[in-house]
Amino acid sequence: MTFEFTATILGTPRIGPKRELKKSVESYWAGKIDAATLESVAKDLRKDSLKALVDAGLDSIPVGTFSYYDHVLDTAVLLGALPERVQGIENDLDRYFAAARGNDTVAPLEMTKWFDTNYHYLVPEISPTTSFSLHPEKVLAELEEARALDVPARPVLIGPVTFLLVSKAVGSDAPLLDRLDEILPLYADLLTQLADAGAEWVQLDEPALVADRTHPEIASAQKAYDYLSALETRPAILLASYFGDLGAALPSLASTGIEGLSIDLTAPGTVEQVAAVPALANKRIVAGIVDGRNIWRTDLDKALATLASLLGSAGALAVSTSCSLLHVPYTLDGETDIVDPLRSWLAFGSEKVTEVTVLATALQDGTESVSEELSTARAALGTRRTDSRLHDAAIRTRLESGVTVDRSPAEDRRQAQAARLDLPALPTTTIGSYPQTTQIRLARAALRRGEIDDADYVRRMRSEIADVVALQEKIGLDVLVHGEPERNDMVQYFAEQLNGFAATANGWVQSYGSRCVRPPILFGDVSRHGAMTVDWITYAQSLTDKPVKGMLTGPVTILAWSFVRDDQPLADSADQVALAIRDETVDLQSAGIRIVQVDEPALRELLPLRAKDKEQYLTWAVRAFKLSTSGVSDSTQIHTHLCYSEFGEVIDAIVALDADVTSIEAARSHMEVLGDLNAVGFDLGVGPGVYDIHSPRVPSVDEITESLRSALKAVPAERLWVNPDCGLKTRGTAEVEASLRNLVEAARAVR
Ligand code: GLN
Ligand code: ZN
Repeated sequence: MTFEFTATILGTPRIGPKRELKKSVESYWAGKIDAATLESVAKDLRKDSLKALVDAGLDSIPVGTFSYYDHVLDTAVLLGALPERVQGIENDLDRYFAAARGNDTVAPLEMTKWFDTNYHYLVPEISPTTSFSLHPEKVLAELEEARALDVPARPVLIGPVTFLLVSKAVGSDAPLLDRLDEILPLYADLLTQLADAGAEWVQLDEPALVADRTHPEIASAQKAYDYLSALETRPAILLASYFGDLGAALPSLASTGIEGLSIDLTAPGTVEQVAAVPALANKRIVAGIVDGRNIWRTDLDKALATLASLLGSAGALAVSTSCSLLHVPYTLDGETDIVDPLRSWLAFGSEKVTEVTVLATALQDGTESVSEELSTARAALGTRRTDSRLHDAAIRTRLESGVTVDRSPAEDRRQAQAARLDLPALPTTTIGSYPQTTQIRLARAALRRGEIDDADYVRRMRSEIADVVALQEKIGLDVLVHGEPERNDMVQYFAEQLNGFAATANGWVQSYGSRCVRPPILFGDVSRHGAMTVDWITYAQSLTDKPVKGMLTGPVTILAWSFVRDDQPLADSADQVALAIRDETVDLQSAGIRIVQVDEPALRELLPLRAKDKEQYLTWAVRAFKLSTSGVSDSTQIHTHLCYSEFGEVIDAIVALDADVTSIEAARSHMEVLGDLNAVGFDLGVGPGVYDIHSPRVPSVDEITESLRSALKAVPAERLWVNPDCGLKTRGTAEVEASLRNLVEAARAVR
């Protein structure tokens, strides 16, 4: 089998260039449109996307990466692996959405991060009673749809090994890879059906193999691909790896009978790894040279040199993106506020597709055939290297001169803070945001449309702040917050006020399901124009004698939720952001604020996939946090907040942050987190969330009391804080008030 192709990508975004799918799916959920209308929107989006890729000149096009919600959930459907609790739901689409979002009677699947991206997938639950069965309708229909349009379609599926490795075993401790023998025959059946339906290639995604894998796991993967490649009737198999290098798995996979392997060339060392595996000399290497998950223009000269160096190692070469374009915005068209030269440094989805075809053409026909494109790229990169915004001497000198990152010993700080704050035992507080009310949203929209001016907007936000402060006083909380009404998003809010960041108008990327985010672009050296939060916080403080916490977002989280620079180590960017946050903490302190919280919910998120890279990451992440929080005096109390994850792997780093008080999402398992913290000698203030804010349910006084008593078994009263497990912005005011009243009453009872 030697079907030729030269230019491709590994997957497409699906939300629609104007978030059409998001809007339609939400309308369907709200009962405003029917399934047929939703399906026709989806069909049009797929058609437009295919057409654009054909027109751009790709000669093998991924099909089946469309999804109404999530591609891992689609794979669970494909393999008949939805949990029993949704199986009674008659209608296909409603069953699917019930698994994704739950309904009145069933809980949804858990959601977690897709490797180290900001995309979240639904975790399939596989129990001993799961009996797999093949349901190939979706992929077959999308293949047929593409073939009817004369598209050189390559169906894409999550491979069997990754499917099992990203799923969760319920009701059994046996490793899920033990179930490989049950699903391989289904994949075999499917591959045959795809071949019969005219697919020349199939892409099986196995990103799980770029993380650390045991020998038995790699052996299972090899066995799976030996088996699939031995099938008589099947398409050529492209095994897709992305988000890193295959390492030890590469020679094993290359030894199987698969025809193609995609390699993430943005990961260091992959060219050498490929060269070291002779078996690749008779495979098609799909060279992931155009970064599929960041937004920078490719250095085409460098890319061509890399591709040339691969020619001798591969049987054949095709140019591709390093991963699916799911992780970047659709296009730069319409980003009228992003102007040259910044604009010329960028490539979003459609621009990346063009880069792929330019590189493929250069490989086929020589560089003269694309000389214009090459010189445009060269010129853009030249201006990027020399732009003064990327090299701010003042910032660099300040960092090089060695800013202190250590505070005084914790005990000295504790005494200084106790004297200044005069808090009761078991102090009560919240994580920062209060409900984003309709008035807040309306005011923000009105400001954006120019219907109200800045002064009017500030007036309205102040009135929200006054309400939130009054509410907290009434409830009897000890440490107050201003409620964050002025923040659209905890990262974007800061990015908009910092030099070195740019915002997009329409750069939406799917975060999960119908939820999309618009990550800011960090392109230059970072500094503040001036104070970013001081006016809001001091206004709140002027309304009360109780301490009001200044609320900031930490450097790691700001980077985690942005597109970051690729021209310097992330650690250097983190230090620059940290310095700006540090200046803000000092300004807050000078304005009389006694407590500053620096949120780092994404600390765990950025953890690298490979163990060998973790320590270095944690070292710079902790350093950046400490840099941002060590400019204040002993008597200023530093809080941090962590959430969205299991903290086991970063527990030492939490200690190293050296924050005076850490609030941590733990409503479901706080004894565990506290036990883990104790085990590593953590002895600072801690506020394990005493109730789960992710549901509208109001926790009773008894429940919270119970929660506190169990926390007190692990943490002495002097160190324990009482707070919900996360910010309250997604909740309603009535339930927040009721919940917090119970929280305060429980704290009083336990005192
Ligand atoms: N201070 C932020 C808030 O309360 C923290 C958000 C978060 O934990 N992700 O909204
Ligand atoms: Zn949180």
